[in-house]
Amino acid sequence: MKKIYFMVGSQDLYGEECLKQVRADAQEMVNFLSEKIKSVTFELLPTVETSPICIANCRKASNDDDCVGVITWMHTFSPAKMWIKGLQQLNKPLLHLHTQYNEKLPYDKIDMDFMNLNQAAHGDREYGFILARMNIAHEVVAGYYKNDKVVKKISRFCDVARAIAFSKNLRVGTFGNNMRDVAVTDGDRVETQIQYGWETNYYAIGDLVEVINAVTDAEIDHKMDEYTSKYDMNTDNIDAVREQAKYEVGLEKFLANKGLGAFTDTFQDLNGLRQLPGIAAQNLMDKGIGFGPEGDYKISAFSALLMEMSKGREGATGFIEDYTYDLTEGSELELASHMLEVPPAFAANKPAIEVHPLGIGGKEDPARLVFDGVTGDGIQVTLVDMGDHFRIICADIELVKQPLPMPNLPVARIMYRHKPDFEIGTAAWCYAGGAHHSVVSTALDRNDIAMFARLTGTELVTIGDDTTEADLQKFFMK
Ligand code: MN
Repeated sequence: MKKIYFMVGSQDLYGEECLKQVRADAQEMVNFLSEKIKSVTFELLPTVETSPICIANCRKASNDDDCVGVITWMHTFSPAKMWIKGLQQLNKPLLHLHTQYNEKLPYDKIDMDFMNLNQAAHGDREYGFILARMNIAHEVVAGYYKNDKVVKKISRFCDVARAIAFSKNLRVGTFGNNMRDVAVTDGDRVETQIQYGWETNYYAIGDLVEVINAVTDAEIDHKMDEYTSKYDMNTDNIDAVREQAKYEVGLEKFLANKGLGAFTDTFQDLNGLRQLPGIAAQNLMDKGIGFGPEGDYKISAFSALLMEMSKGREGATGFIEDYTYDLTEGSELELASHMLEVPPAFAANKPAIEVHPLGIGGKEDPARLVFDGVTGDGIQVTLVDMGDHFRIICADIELVKQPLPMPNLPVARIMYRHKPDFEIGTAAWCYAGGAHHSVVSTALDRNDIAMFARLTGTELVTIGDDTTEADLQKFFMK
């Protein structure tokens, strides 16, 4: 279980009685958060009374692999110069909780002792200044700590911090390279490692094929049992499905052996494989493995970390590609899908295993999962390389039921409506340079992505009901 350290600020001028109360109150807060938020554990560090304590705490948090983030709060005043050297050594996402132990002011009892003990209004501003002055990426959550809204924001921070820790440890394997001539799916692998931690490395498809060819019939049988327990077998071409089962077993072994949490393939480089991985890639995505088609390592990594962020929440999160539109005026819809590799997380019904020809690539007919998509409010989010910085584009969308059956479409698909409408929403996406590969999620929202962007220092463009025609002129066309 991942851990969040709770660090409370005070100073040694106040005397033991006051500091004892600070510790007790902070422990009570930690216990409360532990009750409310189950995605991580919370642990109280020694009260920051001096610079050496702050340094020791920050070193402990930075060196603890289980620690994904730190929450700080100033119970009393806490002179911020004594935080400088500690904060300089902190390398974990930081939440500044601007709160108080007491909700209400005890008007009839308040005296100077109470004022000295409970002065977040004073101490948290001093602390806020030093975070701003040191230009440390952080999140501020303000309000009484037991308020549902505050708890929800802290919980959001825990999810985002967990995803950032996942990202920092993520290894991405690319089989084949970026699809020839394609621009937006390419990127600076050195820079994504510096900024997000992704160790992206190339592996020869032949080395994967060797592992795949060594997969035994028994292993394929076992994988087929898994498929038939999760999906409907809607084909007589069992050999084609077994071929995919073999690919998945081989991929699982290869990924585990290299410690990879995400991978890419490309239909332009399948030397030694008879089919493009279809259900093999889909079923791996269902287990949280990031996948990017056509060598898109950015979306592979990004989808993996967003799946991690959404863990424990209701809803679906996964890779998708923008495909085609219904441009009926006033009720425009997008049909999003891929050649094969649509994550089963999006399935509204039990996915069916089907075998159909693939239009391009010149390979055998691959087995894939086919289904209609989930509905509800969601986001479409992508990450592009602008040359001198990365940009995240996050658009609010509404996933809808497909208006009519599509009996001849042999791939899984989702459909959605853009916000505020097609005209502004899709124009904004184009102006912002959004990719045709993205992550769609009904589990995450814009606030999650905004927090991730802030904590990783990434430029963010949001599109939604608050986006106007004037925004297109002012922002996107500058
Ligand atoms: Mn694609």
